Amino acid sequence: MRSVVTLVLLLTFLVLACSTVDEVDSGGSLHLPALQSYTVYVDPSVSPLGQTAIVEAVRQWEEFTDVTIDVRQGPHVCIFEPSCFAVYEINFADFNTIVDGSYIGYTIPSFVFLSTAISSYDEEQDTVIHEFGHMLGLLHPCTAPCFEDAIMNPTYRNGADEVTCLDVEQFNAIRPEIDAGVPAMACTDASGPRDEAADGGPGGDL
Ligand SMILES: [Zn+2]
Repeated sequence: MRSVVTLVLLLTFLVLACSTVDEVDSGGSLHLPALQSYTVYVDPSVSPLGQTAIVEAVRQWEEFTDVTIDVRQGPHVCIFEPSCFAVYEINFADFNTIVDGSYIGYTIPSFVFLSTAISSYDEEQDTVIHEFGHMLGLLHPCTAPCFEDAIMNPTYRNGADEVTCLDVEQFNAIRPEIDAGVPAMACTDASGPRDEAADGGPGGDL
């Protein structure tokens, strides 16, 4: 299973040159279709830390955009459904060795992969919000190294720890046809309960 996952990730990396995360950026971009609603299946491999981060990521994207994300538990294989994604937690060690990278998250059609190496809630939340942004069709706003105030930074740990107005602006820009006639939803960059760096996690330290 592990080698199969590594192979799938590697092939996708080579084909799409997708980047995501931590301290690396392939220089490419992955652009998934931006849709109105999604169904996300959380595989049993996802840790309690990941489960909590998924709830918070969905809360933030739904708060500032009009997208809806239906989260369901259990294994599921999405087949030919652009709005369907399955979240897995896997070991990125082999993949990172092959691509000489330090990825801790990766999003491709139908799949969001999170690394088992993520040890803190802060990093888990950053990763899930960022990967879900890719799922919603968002791109990196700049090429690494860059320091925009956005969770979609390729090196997002140097940017925001939450969905920011810059992320919301990108979302509204890529879905104008769907949102025609609908006012853009308000965003805020004020620190608050969304900022896990300040409080250690939604609802307090976790
Ligand atoms: Zn990314």
